[in-house]
Amino acid sequence: MNSEHLIDALTGGTYSDPETGQRPHVGTRRVVIADDLGGAECDLLRDLDLGARLLLVSDPDTHRALGARVEAALKNDGGQSVVSHRLPARPHADAGLCAAVVAAARAAQADALVAVGSGTVNDIVKYAAFRCDLPYVVFATAPSMNGYVSGNASIMADGHKKSLAARPPAGVFLDLKVLTQAPRPMIMAGLGDSLCRPTAEADWLLAHLLLGRPYRKTPFDWLAQEEDALLGEAAALFAGDRAAMGRLVRTLILSGFGMTLCGGSYPASQGEHLIAHYLEMFMAPGALTALHGAQIAVTTLSMAHIQERMLEGPPPRLRPSRVDAADLAARFGPAIGAQCWREYAAKRLDSDKAEALNADLSMRWDAIRAAVQSVRRPAAALAHLLRAIDGPCAPGDIGVDVAFYRRAVAEARFLRDRYTFLDLAGDAGRLEALADARASS
Ligand SMILES: [Zn+2]
Repeated sequence: MNSEHLIDALTGGTYSDPETGQRPHVGTRRVVIADDLGGAECDLLRDLDLGARLLLVSDPDTHRALGARVEAALKNDGGQSVVSHRLPARPHADAGLCAAVVAAARAAQADALVAVGSGTVNDIVKYAAFRCDLPYVVFATAPSMNGYVSGNASIMADGHKKSLAARPPAGVFLDLKVLTQAPRPMIMAGLGDSLCRPTAEADWLLAHLLLGRPYRKTPFDWLAQEEDALLGEAAALFAGDRAAMGRLVRTLILSGFGMTLCGGSYPASQGEHLIAHYLEMFMAPGALTALHGAQIAVTTLSMAHIQERMLEGPPPRLRPSRVDAADLAARFGPAIGAQCWREYAAKRLDSDKAEALNADLSMRWDAIRAAVQSVRRPAAALAHLLRAIDGPCAPGDIGVDVAFYRRAVAEARFLRDRYTFLDLAGDAGRLEALADARASS
């Protein structure tokens, strides 16, 4: 099944998962990707039977890019009442803006919400829709992230970025004419967030083969079909090529559905996302301005490099961990340190565990290595691709100090219980040296 049919089968509820035989429920009923959706706006909504009163949410940039067109089309329909809610310029997805959308939806007695935007606007509306128990759809303005179809929203509340339960969109509408005109950094971000497929798959497969953690191949099979073409013609994305843009958005949508299938972000977020998460958590507020996907491009190169070094040569020799709760509290402060300890304790090696894993590695290392190698892409190939499109490769390219980045690589594994190559390198006593090599290259 090609990617287009796959997306239709998933949204139509007819897809049968080859690993389980089950039909996954993705929560989104329509994903429409077309060269030009101008004039089709009313039909797209009518097909979903959303009701007559709509609240359209955009910000000044997304309104200019697409919101004005959608609003005019819906208003001209006659049968709809459309109230437009404009977010401030360059909004952040925070609890206050979500509350304002909920209030506007109630004041307008809306039957449904219509988001026009990308990551931030989508997150705000997704969360607001959940809070007021209304369906929503999104008209995308940029191919900048893989969260369009997700059931979570990333929202700032009480000074922390939280992944909160939200509502997947009933419909996602992707107009390739609009998306090819998105700002270059946003296209780069979507590509960057897609680049981590090989490192995420390698990390997750390692956790499965070494520790017996659950693993799913299906989400990666979905992405494999178009990855060569997407990465092989990355430059076309920045030259307005709609076929290339179609591949990127199908990849982003399928990556989102992959997370739904797995009941978590496993197939799209492993070691590379932990490093980015560390940057987000510990850099000074406002200091990290690079988009998420640009960060992921850089952290993916780090992970690809670390994976490569760890897969060379004989089986790594793992040692019992000397890191304890007091150590993490000293590194991260008492509150975050305690949270990290809960995550890290689940995968921390004591001497018995280290001994058992070493015995296992000495028997099975060649098989583990071969399996992981088969899902990877060489670090040099990823770096070459990014350099060819003038993409972010080094910490400085995303505005991160080299010494701080080195710390992020060395300490990111304490943030979450996922076992990745950061842990394998850390448990083998090699992570500090590998973090040094990466940060200064
Ligand atoms: Zn991501």
